Amino acid sequence: MTEMTLKIKQKFSHKFKQGQPLIFKEAIANLDSLKEEGTIVSLEDERGGFLGRGYYGRQNKGYGWMLTQKQKEQIDQEFFERKFAKAWSKRKSFFNNPDTTAFRLVNGEGDGLGGLTIDYFDGFLLLNWYSEGIYCFKDEVIEALERTVDFKGIYEKKRFNTGGKYIDDDDFVTGERGEFPLIIKENGIQFAVYLNEGAMVGVFLDQRDVRRKIRNHYSEGKTVLNTFSYTGAFSVAAALGGARETTSVDLANRSYEKTVEQFAINGIDYEAQKIVVQDVFDYFNYAVKKGLSFDTVVLDPPSFARSKKKTFSAEKDYKDLLKQSIAITEKDGVIVASTNAGKVPMARFKGFIDQAFKETGHKYAILEEFTLPHDFAVDPKFPQGNYLKVVFVRKR
Ligand code: SAH
Repeated sequence: MTEMTLKIKQKFSHKFKQGQPLIFKEAIANLDSLKEEGTIVSLEDERGGFLGRGYYGRQNKGYGWMLTQKQKEQIDQEFFERKFAKAWSKRKSFFNNPDTTAFRLVNGEGDGLGGLTIDYFDGFLLLNWYSEGIYCFKDEVIEALERTVDFKGIYEKKRFNTGGKYIDDDDFVTGERGEFPLIIKENGIQFAVYLNEGAMVGVFLDQRDVRRKIRNHYSEGKTVLNTFSYTGAFSVAAALGGARETTSVDLANRSYEKTVEQFAINGIDYEAQKIVVQDVFDYFNYAVKKGLSFDTVVLDPPSFARSKKKTFSAEKDYKDLLKQSIAITEKDGVIVASTNAGKVPMARFKGFIDQAFKETGHKYAILEEFTLPHDFAVDPKFPQGNYLKVVFVRKR
């Protein structure tokens, strides 16, 4: 790997000195000298003082990540081995848990490796590369994994900035090939996972604690509406928790069969559940017209989505989404409002909730709050990395 010096503007150097890991554009004084992604950069303040070492890689968040503040530490295979060994030992409790066989093993900057996440799915590793820059370290990373982690096979997703498109080629990297669906367990719930069918594999592991909460405390005897339901993971949790009926709504055609599959592998009669392939916003209108209402409503939209009729952005439209949900939630019912929009911190998200209830003339009470679970480690120097916000709200 080539190495060059990256000059950090004086007014930002203290941030890096304090350990802030993201190499953001405004901080770079010699931007023009950055050429090849994957170049190792040694960060210096304008007086030549060493700040840290990292790599150049463009992703939506910035221009790369600082990986170490130790001047003598090189970014080589041994470096990755040390990181993986530490990440593995931090998650020991997961490896001995027969009820949960999938979790995040490496969470980017939260484990000192900005730009790379690794999920563990019952023996198979799924690597997410967030820039071409980090992908340049693939050989070292794979070799380091071979030496530090027990696994059967490795798959990967290249999530480089290619105009938002997913680069689809064979996702298999090394080891044994998996047989899909791979059936993983999460607190005893089974999920079918496909590591070789595009960027989304069937379940979002960051909602583990929320699914358990819904199953154990918000389902028994309830009618549950799951919007933006994808493969119906929240609906499965609710059905296993004794929901009277679940309704899953997603506009993607394939969500139907995927949801049937998740119910079926958990021994749930999917014909007794409602699975609706429709735009959520049309469904709200339909539900109002039909006088439907629900005891528990789950809202987990993408931070940004474009459908035929409209675009949804969590920042601009979450409040309205909540207002439409409030209209079809029973009195004393519960709305589980979730967002992964990095730009919407918890306080602002609660502001949307407050406004939505005020504007619809209802009182409410916040019952529970969730952010990322422990395996999705967050770097305290980079709190923006804690993107998940989930609030359970009772309509009064
Ligand atoms: N809540 C899900 C994950 C949601 S992923 C879970 O816990 O697993 C986002 C989903 O929103 C995708 O499946 C996408 O098809 C769906 N989606 C996006 N816009 C939508 C809309 N306007 N109406 C219905 N579904 C939508």
